[in-house]
Amino acid sequence: MSEATQPEMGTILRKIPAVDELLATPRIQDLLAVHPRWAILEAVREVLAERRRQILRGEVPPEAAERLLSPAALSAAVADVAGEKAGPSLVPVINATGVVLHTNLGRAPLAPAALRAIEAAARGYVNLEFDLAAGRRGSRQAHVEALLCALTEAEAALVVNNNAAAVLLAINTIADGKEIVVSRGQLVEIGDSFRIPDVMVRAGGRLREVGTTNRTHLHDYAEAIGPETALILRVHRSNFQILGFTADVETAALVALAKRRGLLVMEDLGSGALLDLSLLGLRREPLASDAIRAGVDLVTFSGDKLLGGPQAGMLVGRRDLLECARRNPLARTVRIDKLSLAALEATLRLYREPERALLEIPILRMLRLTSDAIGARALALAGALRSAVPDVAITIEDETSEVGGGALPLQAIPTRVLALRPGRERATDVEARLRRGSPPVLVRIKEDRILLDLRTVAAPEEAALLQALRAALAPGTGGSA
Ligand SMILES: *Cc1c(COP(=O)(O)O)cnc(C)c1O
Repeated sequence: MSEATQPEMGTILRKIPAVDELLATPRIQDLLAVHPRWAILEAVREVLAERRRQILRGEVPPEAAERLLSPAALSAAVADVAGEKAGPSLVPVINATGVVLHTNLGRAPLAPAALRAIEAAARGYVNLEFDLAAGRRGSRQAHVEALLCALTEAEAALVVNNNAAAVLLAINTIADGKEIVVSRGQLVEIGDSFRIPDVMVRAGGRLREVGTTNRTHLHDYAEAIGPETALILRVHRSNFQILGFTADVETAALVALAKRRGLLVMEDLGSGALLDLSLLGLRREPLASDAIRAGVDLVTFSGDKLLGGPQAGMLVGRRDLLECARRNPLARTVRIDKLSLAALEATLRLYREPERALLEIPILRMLRLTSDAIGARALALAGALRSAVPDVAITIEDETSEVGGGALPLQAIPTRVLALRPGRERATDVEARLRRGSPPVLVRIKEDRILLDLRTVAAPEEAALLQALRAALAPGTGGSA
């Protein structure tokens, strides 16, 4: 292909229709029946501007100009862009990665009871901060505090917007301007470069780091305590592990030290679980009740990690401390909204009957699925796919799923995946089509193959997944969703 000369470029540029001209063409007029006018107008402007840039960059050889600027090509581009603009940006996706708590994909899908609670709370008015028995103002915390106390054995509880906010509020309430003794091995970054130590410093705490990355001893804590110290903090290493030559101080020993020196102890559990994950064949994560029983004054954990509920942050522990946290002006800036609160209450209620929690909370169900059960579903999907895409090599293979979401980092859960090796193109090309399809499908790539782990795909999503796979693996054969 030849590059356009200066005069040729001018000629090509003059072939770009005016906005009104393109808008008036029958194909674009037909689009008005499908998409709102604003979206089509914006799309027309953007498509024409993009064509102009392509020409000016010398990307349009004279012989291609006619086709690229034809009404058919322009209106097809406008239809795509207008469709994207007119549709929602936040859409359901199929998570075939096998990462159960995928932070970028919204962490925990909610239980049916939580969904119903959200709908009911969103549709009309609710007794959010109204005490119906007494007929006066109430607290939004009242809907979950007793549940959290029952489930964690704490004497009081406070719920905020997320766990990072819980840490912020806790530290600001009990250690503003004071020193916090914390192990170097527990200063965690929680993703997207957010570091919990930075949150604690912004909350007014001064960090006194003790020990080394791999080893911290009780005497390290003891020696660091001074007149300015208010708090000993323990942060659960939920998203990484230090292996090899390591030493850590147990919560109970920290509590004993703190009592002797008149200090408070706080534990940020990160994920925090409300039931023993060894029931699911996983490593036992510390429960909030373990920390409370050990005598920790304040415990914080997330709502949408292993708890399997909505985004929320829990503070449980001593009543007097939580009373101060409640009155802290920051509490208002991090308060939980009514929809999350509704979902949280419904989720916590399921935990009152652990066997119901195991059955109805999606992430607990997913974590419990055996590789045999997942393999059987993969096999059925493979059978349905094979005839549609004959030149794709399809196998079922042993792999591992991940808990994700900064929980149980080294816990590899055995699974069985559907592995696809496209015959004529790279796996990454197919991956991109899946990702940009409708619904978008997120997969893993390994050794130029696409891996699909059905652990994180709900049974009702399988039909849509099959459609999306057909469309992405055999484009142009009418398999579009
Ligand atoms: C995930 C995590 C947080 C933050 O919790 P969010 O609910 O995501 O705000 C804080 N601390 C630890 C140790 C974590 O693992």
